[in-house]
Amino acid sequence: MPAGLQRTAPMAWDVIHKTAHAASVTPLLADYASARRDFRWSDARAQLDGLSGGALNIAHEAVDRHAAGTRAHKVALRCLARDRAPREVTYTQLRELTDRFAGTLRSLGIARGERVFVLSERIPELYIAALGTLKAGCVLSPLFSAFGPEPIKARMNLGSGAVLVTTPTLYRRKVASIRAELPTLRHVLLADDGSDATDLLQQPGVHLLAPLLDAAAPAFAVAATAPEDMALLHFTSGTTGKPKGVVHVHEAVVAHAASARFVLDLHDDDIFWCTADPGWVTGTSYGIVAPLVLGVTMIVDREEFDARRWYQLLQDEKVTVWYTAPTAIRMLMKVGADAAKGCDLSRLRHLCSVGEPLNPDAVVWGQQTFGVPFHDNWWQTETGAIMIANYASMDVRPGSMGKPVPGIDAGIVRRTEDGRVEEITAPDTDGELALRPGWPSMFRAYLNNEERYRQAFADGWYLSGDLARRDADGYYWFVGRADDVIKSAGHLIGPFEVESALMEHPAVAGAGVIGKPDAVVGEIVKAFVELRAGHEADETMRRALLGFARTRLGPAVAPKEIAFIERLPRTRSGKIMRRLLKARELGLPEGDTSTLESGA
Ligand code: ATP
Ligand code: MG
Repeated sequence: MPAGLQRTAPMAWDVIHKTAHAASVTPLLADYASARRDFRWSDARAQLDGLSGGALNIAHEAVDRHAAGTRAHKVALRCLARDRAPREVTYTQLRELTDRFAGTLRSLGIARGERVFVLSERIPELYIAALGTLKAGCVLSPLFSAFGPEPIKARMNLGSGAVLVTTPTLYRRKVASIRAELPTLRHVLLADDGSDATDLLQQPGVHLLAPLLDAAAPAFAVAATAPEDMALLHFTSGTTGKPKGVVHVHEAVVAHAASARFVLDLHDDDIFWCTADPGWVTGTSYGIVAPLVLGVTMIVDREEFDARRWYQLLQDEKVTVWYTAPTAIRMLMKVGADAAKGCDLSRLRHLCSVGEPLNPDAVVWGQQTFGVPFHDNWWQTETGAIMIANYASMDVRPGSMGKPVPGIDAGIVRRTEDGRVEEITAPDTDGELALRPGWPSMFRAYLNNEERYRQAFADGWYLSGDLARRDADGYYWFVGRADDVIKSAGHLIGPFEVESALMEHPAVAGAGVIGKPDAVVGEIVKAFVELRAGHEADETMRRALLGFARTRLGPAVAPKEIAFIERLPRTRSGKIMRRLLKARELGLPEGDTSTLESGA
């Protein structure tokens, strides 16, 4: 890590001020400073039930607690099919279904601690299997249903998957060809997707899920898991390399719940929609666990991004709190405001975004389109929960990730020549974003990679691998991933800053920026640009963009080269894969592409 670099130019965006009376609902975190001062993890833990003898089980907190209380008949999940026909599941129904699922695992001889993989579209069975797995004290590992056979095989073998929950169609397409290469897999449970599975049932260990659930007892004594028992196995997005298996424990639920209260501002009567698939950590922490623990009604859409469908869904389902990602926001911006015409989006009161840096113009676009800005927040598979965020009650500085969540101590650090890690206290100085270990959802291991886990911690810090800076008021600004950062003629350049500047040009729909090796200056900045419909990818445009970026960023930081690209390579969770742009540019091997969006 290079020594910190002093910044001179502040971001040129206006702050979006929040006033106490502007919000229709009083935010749960009404005042950042006092919430931070008064917060104790022990208090957050005390808001959960727990089980006797100090046990803690995520599924009990998410489901049974409500089924036994005042939310018994409240809708927990509203799952929308392709034609948007809803299937509602109340907390009581969810308790019974997850009990039956847990009982099914037991009757198949699956013991506590064994790993259950789920490969499914976002249908109710995915959620039943996920929570039922946790109830049984087994470990849940959700996979993207769009994965092909190889990524499935690599993950299931790394994680020693004993059970796979999937559908006949997905099994046929993705698993059948690798079945013989999954030595730990004992049972496959097929959720009905309307297709005929008769032939599949001839294979040993393959069952239909529905009859097993019917046959199971309607009640199951939830496993009295210890807070440190492994609960979740997630794989990182693979943006910077081979995806890593990240281990989380039941105790993580304390951070899921507390952060959802503070950042997502989930109130009892909210209708919440998290657009992330559970194959990505966001889709589990905030697409399954947190909203249910807080007892809200959650929308689950089976389909992928479609601007018109999304606007309709926000309107018809009366979504109040929406958690999505920059890639989706940029796609909505690209489609244009017309797609929202005629939709009543006035119920939306709080919007959040995670996964990649959120360009300032996207924050402002949110304000213009929905009347509220997008609230960017930062975290990783490893952190298990949101760590740095903008809050409903706090002024938003577009382009900033906000401030650390109560209970989280963050810092900007640098590695010294003699290998130590020291904090940088001067504001506006680039360094590595680091966190003080000890929050409940901190990962407990990289699966089968102890060495790498150890390397992530030093001198009392967890080192995130991301570069950031903190301004004098305590707001954090993302600079780039340590792996992506560009060193050009003695300057340290974060791709995000360059990409954001390009995105301000009306013709630009997306941008990915890399450092291209150069004999003289080390690296030059090269940008790959996706244009909006109706714009020509020609020399005039290229010159215009080069000039535009130069004016915004100055000659040292502006790209020297711009290439037009039909579609930037992205991960399935929507992150720009700069390492792939670079490998392609330099004619180098592409490395692990298991999480690459198809067709990119
Ligand atoms: P891999 O670790 O396999 O390369 P990944 O880091 O993309 O993949 P995730 O854990 O899904 O895997 O993503 C976490 C990373 O995403 C963060 O370290 C950061 O680089 C980026 N990120 C997440 N949220 C934000 C945000 N709000 N602003 C900027 N970057 C973000
Ligand atoms: Mg990472």
